[in-house]
Amino acid sequence: MKRIYLDHAAATPADTEVLKTFLALSKKYTGNAHALHREGVVARTALDGARAKIAHVLGAHADEVVFTSGATESNNIALAGVVRAARASGFKNPRIVISAIEHPSVREVARALAREGVAVDMLGVSADGLVDTHALRKLLTSETVLVSVMYANNEIGTVEPIREIAKEVRHARTVNGSVYPYFHTDAAQALNYLDVNVLRLGVDLMTLSSGKTYGPYGVGALFVKRGVKMESVSHGGSHESGRRPGTEAVPLACAFAHAVEIAEKIKAKESARVMKLRNLLAEKILKQIPDVTINGDMAQALPNMLSVTIPGIESETLVIYLDARGVAVSGKSACTSSVEGLSHVILALGKAGAEQAGVIRFSLGRQTIREDVIRAAKEFSDTVAFLRKPGVMMNEERIN
Ligand code: PMP
Repeated sequence: MKRIYLDHAAATPADTEVLKTFLALSKKYTGNAHALHREGVVARTALDGARAKIAHVLGAHADEVVFTSGATESNNIALAGVVRAARASGFKNPRIVISAIEHPSVREVARALAREGVAVDMLGVSADGLVDTHALRKLLTSETVLVSVMYANNEIGTVEPIREIAKEVRHARTVNGSVYPYFHTDAAQALNYLDVNVLRLGVDLMTLSSGKTYGPYGVGALFVKRGVKMESVSHGGSHESGRRPGTEAVPLACAFAHAVEIAEKIKAKESARVMKLRNLLAEKILKQIPDVTINGDMAQALPNMLSVTIPGIESETLVIYLDARGVAVSGKSACTSSVEGLSHVILALGKAGAEQAGVIRFSLGRQTIREDVIRAAKEFSDTVAFLRKPGVMMNEERIN
């Protein structure tokens, strides 16, 4: 039985050409990119080339791209690094704004900063998961040093109005007569499908991840606009212009740059292709399962993502049964009584209730074809029908 992988938001399989780049360069570059000898210079040149390629796609300068180990590290550096630098430049009580639906790699950094005395203002979202830019204006103060709102949400796929948020942030700077607040966006989920030109978006910092864009895991990047004050979060050598110490992983960086170039090249075509398939999947699911609802507004979401709520069944149960039927998806609980797996995103939409409900995320990718979504929809509706038969589910999986 063919496996149907519909969990590309969690991990994308590395592109074969990108892997070839990685392997070839792993053999070729023996030098440390910081060494003065020829091997070092050769490695450094390759690293600079990778930086320039990514910068080109972002519409940025090469020196504005910092290589990291992935989106988690980029987010940590962005939030904590900006706050530290702001403190060092005289902000005694810095504030930051994050949206209520950020990935844990932003949310938990904010929580850690709050323990250090930073005020964290939470920007709410609509029932469709869109941030309220008017509410943002009210949250911004002269002490706000950073606004962090993700480009596309990883649970329901909502695409946030980055350009409008950037406008609000610029307005606040004018009011403050200051370089603050900066605007950071986590674009880990956006790179494959959306415009990532930093000038058009108007962002000061932007997070990217290779493992979500058909590149190797263990590498990512943070765009940091020239002039942005940001301290290093970890301490060590002067790598990456002192912003991220540690010997640069040259083959990983080059493979990531290759992956970014491929993603950019096929973006428009691939977006249209997966959107058609995603819409077909949604149509089939809505037709085949009576009380299913879609989370978020598909018209304002990533083209490869579909998140649905199924009343009466735990998401974990659905994921496991679907896995046994050959379909890989992911899910989180939408039930306030299930403290364990409750999704903060679904909670922020105001959709979580006391009644048991499962949320399932389908995320399509480059290998997904029409037959896959048709079979996935069928396996999904059969699974739901089976689990809803009286006597099938264990007591703890049933609604009481
Ligand atoms: N941000 C978002 C929006 C994500 O979806 C993810 C991965 N699920 C991350 C950050 C973390 O990415 P990484 O695994 O590269 O650290």
